[in-house]
Amino acid sequence: MPTDLREALQAASRELSSVSDTARLDAEVLLAHVIGKNRAYLRAWPERLLQADEERRFLASIAARARGVPVAYLTGVREFWSRSFKVCPDVLIPRPETELLVELAVEAACRRNRPRILDLGTGSGVIAVTLALECPDAEVWAVDVSESALAVARHNAAALGAKTVRFLRGDWFAPLPADIRFDLIVSNPPYVSPSDPHLLRGDLRYEPRQALVSVKDGLHDIALIADNAGPRLLPDGGLMIEHGFDQADAVARILGKAGYRDVRHHRDLQGHERVTSALRAPES
Ligand code: GLN
Repeated sequence: MPTDLREALQAASRELSSVSDTARLDAEVLLAHVIGKNRAYLRAWPERLLQADEERRFLASIAARARGVPVAYLTGVREFWSRSFKVCPDVLIPRPETELLVELAVEAACRRNRPRILDLGTGSGVIAVTLALECPDAEVWAVDVSESALAVARHNAAALGAKTVRFLRGDWFAPLPADIRFDLIVSNPPYVSPSDPHLLRGDLRYEPRQALVSVKDGLHDIALIADNAGPRLLPDGGLMIEHGFDQADAVARILGKAGYRDVRHHRDLQGHERVTSALRAPES
């Protein structure tokens, strides 16, 4: 007997209920993806029968989800700033809190004339691509150490029409031309401590470790960026860094020690101080 959409969803939500807090939503997203429709279609046509091939693919994706594979890696896409980005296990899955970083960066960048922006550790490219699209006169550079991440970022830039982003492969500032300076440097670097138990739970288990984890309580890469960004900023240039919900004080100390001024924390929608911004020290 062929299964209809309603029955398929009910069975899948039940199967996922013990492994996911969002079982019903996960099942809907995966079913919509398999049949090539949106979630509204599932509600409009609950009696639509699944073809054998669709059912097979849906069951396979539910089984993978039940093992913990993130929904975004199963569908290959994740929405960010109302645009659809390709993702795969080579890149971190974009998080809503990173939209705060982008919002602040758009605000800062659009105040300047033809700003030059650098995104460090671009991953899937969500930050660089969104900034390029939101500030069309900006010159956006994006760096990542992972060639496979850069391939995803380049794909996203091309698919979404952000044709001018320059992608470079290398370690933080290493691949940049020696004399180039920026109005704004942004980064969502790895900031999870190697001993953080969250690494053993949920989506984080499947995401690239080098995009998540940093030694010294998760602060090693943030300190590297802070120490090296100064000479790369134009006078009055700004640095904006995403960090863990409990790292704001530590990040402020790092930035203060590195001589930045006007250090400010910014809260995400959950009320966590999630992004810290600062301006270049006058003498650097
Ligand atoms: N926000 C991610 C998390 O803790 C971590 C991202 C990162 O390390 N840049 O779920």
